[in-house]
Amino acid sequence: MRLSQYFLPILRDDPKEAEIVSHKLMLRCGMIRQEAAGSYSWLPLGLRVLRKIEQIVREEQNRAGAIEVLMPTIQPAGLWRKSGRYEAYGKEMLRIKDRHDRDMLFGPTNEEMITDIFAQGVQSYKDLPRNLYHIQWKFRDEVRPRFGVMRGREFLMKDAYSFDLTREAGQHSYNKMFVSYLKTFARMGLKAVPMRAETGPIGGKDSHEFLILADTGESEVFFDRAFHDMDWQAFEIDYDDVEAVAKVVDDFTSKYAATSEMHDQADYEKRVPADRRVTGRGIEVGHIFFFGTKYSEPLGAEVQGPDGKMVPVQSGSYGIGVSRLVGGIIEASHDEAGIIWPEPVAPFKVGLINLKAGDAGTDAACERLYHALECKGVDVLYDDRDERAGAKFGAMDLIGLPWQVIVGPRGLKDGIAEVKNRRTGERENAALDQLVGRFAR
Ligand code: ATP
Ligand code: MG
Repeated sequence: MRLSQYFLPILRDDPKEAEIVSHKLMLRCGMIRQEAAGSYSWLPLGLRVLRKIEQIVREEQNRAGAIEVLMPTIQPAGLWRKSGRYEAYGKEMLRIKDRHDRDMLFGPTNEEMITDIFAQGVQSYKDLPRNLYHIQWKFRDEVRPRFGVMRGREFLMKDAYSFDLTREAGQHSYNKMFVSYLKTFARMGLKAVPMRAETGPIGGKDSHEFLILADTGESEVFFDRAFHDMDWQAFEIDYDDVEAVAKVVDDFTSKYAATSEMHDQADYEKRVPADRRVTGRGIEVGHIFFFGTKYSEPLGAEVQGPDGKMVPVQSGSYGIGVSRLVGGIIEASHDEAGIIWPEPVAPFKVGLINLKAGDAGTDAACERLYHALECKGVDVLYDDRDERAGAKFGAMDLIGLPWQVIVGPRGLKDGIAEVKNRRTGERENAALDQLVGRFAR
């Protein structure tokens, strides 16, 4: 993409309405624009990041055996009346009437609809287990939308729903999602610590929230420093191996980690030596929940068991805040100059800077490099504008692409460009003819 032809409305100054760094940076970089409280348009740069995150989430869901569907944003109220949540949900639910005066709502979540879909599509225990998910916009009329996309009213969520015959089988489905979440967040360069969460009125069942650490997080967290030393990256796992999956879950849940709602100071002091106690703030990026037959019973989602009797299925739901992650990653990865994108979610991998636009030799060298990179499928943003070098450096640092390639007449005489790593700030000279090979990996 050529910057001269792109739509990147960068703001010079910090927007006054933004309280936290990710919100400030997303507005300054022209990633989003607010349309109403908690509702945003995604501008080209922001949308590229959102799509990358969404794709990582999708790949890891698929890998764990979940199957993608897509349900509508607007739902009929009927199913919610059956589960009892139409009344119970309160003011967070946006209620709508259609032209026939029928009650509709903008979905804040999809347990009812997916349970009904499942019930109509499956008859026998032989059709189990199944896990269905979608990545769709939700609306929750939050009392206090704030911090940009972190607490929006309209936001993008991945929500998956598992269906099993027994509690034990359901546990394995839950564990698979647990492990897939670790992998999903690790691929984005995040350590999202799983913390035991409130299970609400049905009680006794499993629930974990995944939180990334950031000073601006809304939750207070307490955990064992030992999490830092765990292997977050590379556990390759066979999701059908029930014991191997359970072992990863055990490893992660055996260490103390809790948000303030679940925190037990005495237990914390007993289990974690003083020098390993970490307290701080966290952002909830995912939440998994096992609720058994809470929805299958009222909605009649039953299958015929091996003994011929009909039984309600055991279910769980598994959410990831896809749009919240865009802000969360920025909170976890930035400096004074701007955003520092982890490569897997970066809007472009390389920012190509032409130091002397208008100079025939520099233009030609940049064009060649730009085309060669594009041909190899490298996402490159080419700053071909006629601007001061300082302004170009500032803009590139602000939008935080992982690599900058700086081309000017001086280096060109020796056939070289400068390559800067945004995260470390390290600069090195590189032969122009080797650059494509270097980035096209
Ligand atoms: P929170 O406690 O932050 O209000 P929640 O517990 O109500 O969230 P869940 O129902 O668990 O949310 O939704 C799954 C995920 O969706 C959350 O872990 C979070 O990442 C994301 N999410 C929830 N509410 C919002 C929101 N208002 N804006 C952006 N993302 C959200
Ligand atoms: Mg939650």
